[in-house]
Amino acid sequence: MNHLTGTIFDIKRFAVHDGPGIRTTVFFKGCPLNCWWCHNPESQNIDPEPIKRPNSEETEIVGKVVDTKYIMKEIRKDIIFYEESNGGVTFSGGEPLLQSEFLIALIDSCSKEDIHTAIDTTGYGSQKLLKSLLGKLNLYLYDLKFIDDKLHQKYTGVSNESILKNLEYLNSENESVIIRIPIIPGITDTRSNIADLGGYISQLSSITEVNILPYNHLGEGKYPRLNRHYRLGNKVRTPSDKELNKIKYEFESHGTKVSIGG
Ligand code: SF4
Repeated sequence: MNHLTGTIFDIKRFAVHDGPGIRTTVFFKGCPLNCWWCHNPESQNIDPEPIKRPNSEETEIVGKVVDTKYIMKEIRKDIIFYEESNGGVTFSGGEPLLQSEFLIALIDSCSKEDIHTAIDTTGYGSQKLLKSLLGKLNLYLYDLKFIDDKLHQKYTGVSNESILKNLEYLNSENESVIIRIPIIPGITDTRSNIADLGGYISQLSSITEVNILPYNHLGEGKYPRLNRHYRLGNKVRTPSDKELNKIKYEFESHGTKVSIGG
């Protein structure tokens, strides 16, 4: 049998913040966005690349090319936990839609074994590709940052036009969607952006929940290790519980179920 290959940078077992139950999360390498706050900068380039070891000049390679057989072997190790917790597998990144053939092959293999599948996606891709996924994935964890396209372009490097269109398409097809919003103080948490997002989300009936994801500094140290500049600097802080609860109430006021964190 022919096994497709793709590039990943990690596989996390026993994940509990990437969808329901206990999950195995497969992190695809490569992302078409370039968010200022990205906490996985090693996910952005699709090719394996050198990264300095922490506090060292020595480098190692982050990312590896693997085949579907290798990943399915890792996934199968925890089937018993998926069954007991109503968990499954989440394809994350980076952006899994960038390696679409590899992604579809993995989804099909999981489906054959009755393993629940979710994708954590920016939604940036062609509608044709999303159409080819219809009925295959059990859940979309769909990231939204801004409704205002100028802000989206400034802070992520790409327009949100296809992202919003694709979300509306999934809604029209009644796919199950959880929205994930990174809360970056002074950037995505402005009153107007939260109001715009709340109003927009409330119109889409297939969205079952909103997760608000507070910014943290954890990714910052990876930038110098990749010889890259961290554009947020140290000006942005982690949002307080009070600020997060205020945002939560704002989304709840539109009738949306909300949780803080994944
Ligand atoms: S979409 Fe996610 S992985 Fe891609 S650059 Fe933004 S934060 Fe990083």
